[in-house]
Parts: sequence; structure tokens; C-alpha cells
Amino acid sequence: MTKPAPNTSEKYDLGFANWVYENVNGGDKLGLCMQCGVCSGSCPIGEQMDHGPRKLFMMIRAGMKDEVLSSNTMWNCTSCYRCVVRCPRSVPVTYILQDLAAKSVELGYAKPNENSKFSNSFWWSAKTFGRTDERLVTAKYYFSFGVVEGVKRGLDNLKIAWGMIKTGRMHLTMPHQIKDKAGLKAILAKAAEIEERESKS
Ligand code: SF4
Ligand code: SF4
Repeated sequence: MTKPAPNTSEKYDLGFANWVYENVNGGDKLGLCMQCGVCSGSCPIGEQMDHGPRKLFMMIRAGMKDEVLSSNTMWNCTSCYRCVVRCPRSVPVTYILQDLAAKSVELGYAKPNENSKFSNSFWWSAKTFGRTDERLVTAKYYFSFGVVEGVKRGLDNLKIAWGMIKTGRMHLTMPHQIKDKAGLKAILAKAAEIEERESKS
């Protein structure tokens, strides 16, 4: 169980960097970061993040606990490992972000409903079709908040969807499916079996 993050009403919590050092996987390597920005500059998702990894690490040092733990940076990271490969100081950026995400859930900063709803939609598509169909994942996710909210979110993103259709990034045909769905089912069953066995050991 993770030790609670230092609790203070001050905006800048100077104990936060130490807490990350002691509790977050890879956090002990944060001191190596020289703020060069190669990670943020290399990140394909950087524009979708509240703060790129370089800035997030600076915010940790500055003690901006609330801003860091409620940031969307960790959730938007796709774990492509480009930052890890390119970091000149071998900072395990991806591991740090992954564990910060776990800590943000554990400490009540993340919005578990939003995240679990999206995961459920993603997982449903992967299991049903053997692929993730962005239209169906998005629709299922939006409508998991109710019909009114689903329609509202859909309309808010209509322009993006139309742009994707026009540029061929999104199709309007039936969802693509893998051929060997029985094989996929067997793999998933095996994975569930291993997971259950390991959870008991
Ligand atoms: S690339 Fe490495 S050293 Fe440079 S800012 Fe990112 S984590 Fe820090
Ligand atoms: S692992 Fe995450 S933070 Fe690093 S480059 Fe990829 S998406 Fe960006």
C-alpha cells in the first residue's frame, strides 16, 4: 500500500518530490533529468497532454502535487517508449508515468468512472472484433454516460469525425474483424487463466 502523498494546503508541496522518489516506480531516477525536453519533443501524443513529460517532471520537483496527480498526461501516454529510447539520461519516463497513473487512482485524483468506462468500451471492441474500431469505441464510450450526454459529446466532436472521414482516417463501412476469432478467444482465456493463477500466488 502506498504511503499517502504529503498532505498540505499549500499550493507547492516541497515533500512531493521525495514522495515520488520513494513511492513511484522509476521515481528514484527523476534526479537524473536535466530538463532537456527530448522526451516531450519526441512524444507523438504531447499535444494531447496537459503537460509533456519534461514539464511534469519539473512540476514534481516544484512540489505541484495536485496538478501532477490530476493531470491527463499519464492517461494519454500510449507507452510507445519513444521518450525512454531517446532520453540522454536514461530516465524511465514511461514507467514513471504508468505508476503516477496508478497512484492518481489510488489517492483519489483520477476520475475512475471516466477511465473505466473508456477501458470497458475499448476492451469490448477488442474482444468482439479482434480490433479496436474507433467509431464504435467512441460511440460506446460517449453513450455510457447516458443518451443525452452521448449525443452532446458526439455533436461536440462532429467536426473532428468529419475531418477524419474526409482524409480517409475513419471509414463508414462495417467494422473490420479478424479472421481467427476462435484463436483470439483461446488466447484471452489462457491470459485470464494465468492472471487468476498469478493473483493467487
Ligand atoms: S529526455 Fe530525459 S533528461 Fe531530457 S527532459 Fe526528458 S526525462 Fe529529462
Ligand atoms: S511513452 Fe508516453 S510519454 Fe513517452 S513518448 Fe510515448 S506517449 Fe509520449
